[in-house]
Amino acid sequence: MINRNPCIANIKAGYLFPEISRRRKEFAAAHPETAEHSHRIISLGVGNTTEPVLPHINAGLVEGARKLGTVEGYSGYQDEGLQSLREKISAVFYKGKFQADEIFISDGAKCDIGRLQLLFGAGVPVAVQDPSYPVYVDGSVLAGAAGAWTGTGYQGIVYLPCTAENNYFPDLSLLPEKSLFYFCSPNNPTGATATGVQLEALVKAALEKKVLIVFDAAYSEYIRDPALPKSIFDIDGAKRCAIEVNSFSKPAGFTGVRLGWTVVPKELKYSGGESVNADWARVCGTIFNGASNIAQAGGLAALDAEGLTEIRRLCDFYLGNAALIRESLEKLGISSITGGDNSPYIWARFPGRDSWDVFTEILEKCHVVTTPGSGFGPAGQSFIRFSAFGHRADVEEACARLERLKG
Ligand SMILES: *Cc1c(COP(=O)(O)O)cnc(C)c1O
Repeated sequence: MINRNPCIANIKAGYLFPEISRRRKEFAAAHPETAEHSHRIISLGVGNTTEPVLPHINAGLVEGARKLGTVEGYSGYQDEGLQSLREKISAVFYKGKFQADEIFISDGAKCDIGRLQLLFGAGVPVAVQDPSYPVYVDGSVLAGAAGAWTGTGYQGIVYLPCTAENNYFPDLSLLPEKSLFYFCSPNNPTGATATGVQLEALVKAALEKKVLIVFDAAYSEYIRDPALPKSIFDIDGAKRCAIEVNSFSKPAGFTGVRLGWTVVPKELKYSGGESVNADWARVCGTIFNGASNIAQAGGLAALDAEGLTEIRRLCDFYLGNAALIRESLEKLGISSITGGDNSPYIWARFPGRDSWDVFTEILEKCHVVTTPGSGFGPAGQSFIRFSAFGHRADVEEACARLERLKG
């Protein structure tokens, strides 16, 4: 038979969530009482939204589907996305700084992150914040830009530790020249949000070192502190060194609907002077035929005044959950906690302990599923990520049970 792509054999992560689910099932099977409501297993583990799409945005989706059944309203392929949606994204998120053809509508940020690496090939050095969202690293391994798992990380990936000691912002002197640097703010998993000063330093370093930043802003609508930048393009010079990916998944509850976008400025050029924007249009036209037009109708509704109010309301709801979780962890006397204020993730340190051991303790004592920080990279060891995505009653119950971790 045909040979397997050796890059696939190199992937070792991606194993995090299946492993969590395996352990959860094993625990449930050994503890039949978890079938009772009061002892049920509650998940604060995944980054998946749980609340219904709000009515105005949902009406946009319904209307999008209805139109497809009419002669006048029918539409087929839309390539890089509806012109009106691209214009609206530029107006709402970027103060009109971008032309419609610098904004590419996608079926989600993760999908675009996976495709983006086609622009740079297997030879590009890749750097990530450590810990980080798994697709940056796993996508690089699949693309052949990174090699085998060495026990603590992948060969060829430069991990820039983000720890309590550096306030979850990396030492930029470690950034390799001419590399691709994935940067996520507000961060999944640490919940840390970079300040304007930090992002200015990032852009400055990228321009000096000829680095291309892929800025993941999937949680930008969770930012409540008006002093914190929501986009890398709030920083001067970013148009010459950054691509931004974003998504309707977390702000509008579109995790299952699938809609996102990527901004590729026309000023952005490769070392040879060629346009990255033109290449991205080419890649999208070649292996991607555009996002669902129903989803895009929902996206348009999400960005009008009523839709934006709903986005705010939905994010506020999850941030309310985050505040409850954070408060419970503080009551336990955990000294190092970040996130939960401008992000739906809370990152808590259990000094000297193995992340999976803490995961197991929380599962056994509280019947609560969390995510072991070590699954997001070597610097995540001893941390646990708590996710604020959940129904309020479940989160309240989980918080009450966390008290069992005392002493
Ligand atoms: C959830 C998430 C995304 C969104 O991915 P979609 O494919 O748009 O659903 C992107 N980046 C990070 C860091 C995320 O946590």
